[in-house]
Amino acid sequence: MNDINYLLRQIPKVDELLLHESLTRLGGGAMLTQAVREVLDDLRHDIKAGRVDMLPCRDALVAKATKRMYEQQKPNLQRVINGTGIILHTNLGRAPLAKEALDAVHEAARGYSNLEYCVEKGARSSRHVHIEGLITELTGAEAAMVVNNNAAAVLLALSAVEGKDVIVSRGELVEIGGSFRVPDVLTQSGCRLVEVGTTNKTHVRDYERAIQAGLTGALLRVHTSNFIMSGFVAKPGLEELAKVAAAHDIPLIEDLGSGCIVPLSQYGIYGQPVVADSIKAGVDIVTFSGDKLLGGPQAGIIAGRAGWVAKMKAHPLARAMRIDKLCLAALEATLRLYRDLAMVVEKIPALKMLCEPPDKLLEKARLLKEQLDPYGEISVVTEASLAGGGAMPEEGIATAAVVIKAARQQVSAQALERHFRLGPVPIIGRVSRDRFMLDVRTLDVEDFPQIAARLQAI
Ligand SMILES: *Cc1c(COP(=O)(O)O)cnc(C)c1O
Repeated sequence: MNDINYLLRQIPKVDELLLHESLTRLGGGAMLTQAVREVLDDLRHDIKAGRVDMLPCRDALVAKATKRMYEQQKPNLQRVINGTGIILHTNLGRAPLAKEALDAVHEAARGYSNLEYCVEKGARSSRHVHIEGLITELTGAEAAMVVNNNAAAVLLALSAVEGKDVIVSRGELVEIGGSFRVPDVLTQSGCRLVEVGTTNKTHVRDYERAIQAGLTGALLRVHTSNFIMSGFVAKPGLEELAKVAAAHDIPLIEDLGSGCIVPLSQYGIYGQPVVADSIKAGVDIVTFSGDKLLGGPQAGIIAGRAGWVAKMKAHPLARAMRIDKLCLAALEATLRLYRDLAMVVEKIPALKMLCEPPDKLLEKARLLKEQLDPYGEISVVTEASLAGGGAMPEEGIATAAVVIKAARQQVSAQALERHFRLGPVPIIGRVSRDRFMLDVRTLDVEDFPQIAARLQAI
């Protein structure tokens, strides 16, 4: 006990420690004082618990306090290096923004803007005007608006149906992930779900039979995203469905999920529904995400008939879902890039990564291998990566990856995965068949030295 009291008396005072030259060099401040106080409190606690035989020297305490201060200053939401190859990884923030979009965010964030103000008239305006023209131009729709994500867009579109019956195929009652479930969203909108058809096959006549004059408010078509059915399956074409809806004077709503603005078939990416095709087929309201294949910020885009869009803009829920100015700025800048189709794949990072040809990826993987070679046993492999964001769930796209083994053989793939993940900048890879690998599709060449440094640090 005497020892403990002796040790406790030896603990320096906060003010004394703050006078240490390496701390005065940091310029003081409340954060530093707090860090010093916490380090000394911890020490006091450890002494009382009998865990300390000898008081650490002042230099050690100062180093501890400095480290703690820097750790506390580090933002919780931080950059990570994506070595999963999944381009639209929801957990890692989906689409990285184009430079033009970043500049627009910066400009909109640093001062005031004409967000809801018409400069010509000197009067109040709507935030939708900044992007509505771009969306209608790119999709062929009559009108458009934007909300904070696609889940909100679907909810708003259904809410505009005002509690009537909404007919959905049993094959499209899906869960998208992150608790977006079609039946639940429908219930939340106040509408009544009317299921038609079967899990694998739904025909036009199934929809026709379910329509009841006065009761039915809409037909809903849902892109099943990361759920794929094959074999004995059937569903009506969009045009057929649109005709049925029009004949009964009700809207056909389509949740496209990851709406593509331009066809990507020339880059070897097939099967992605393009928004303009849905509009052309006669869909009345199309909704899709801003941060999936579009490659912009989180947003939900609604494009379609003017009457319905006007109804949604005036809906009380629209205010609760409205897009903020930073996303609006990023979205406008991203959409503008689509006006130059020759450049769009070059300028929008998500599309660039998606369309990167296999030989370029292999070259990139060899470059990474070269930088990693001094610190481990590295091999280049060809693999299949996923687009993410519900696009092309089955069709892996050919990619290249490096398989990393530590110089010391006993480090397991799981231990390697953990080591890279827990570094100063988390590096997220994947373990497949007991091998740890980084897919170069989603890696930036500028991050290669950082990856090498992390391997060296084992
Ligand atoms: C991704 C997705 C959603 C949800 O979109 P968020 O932008 O994440 O809110 C809804 N429906 C479909 C079909 C999707 O693929």
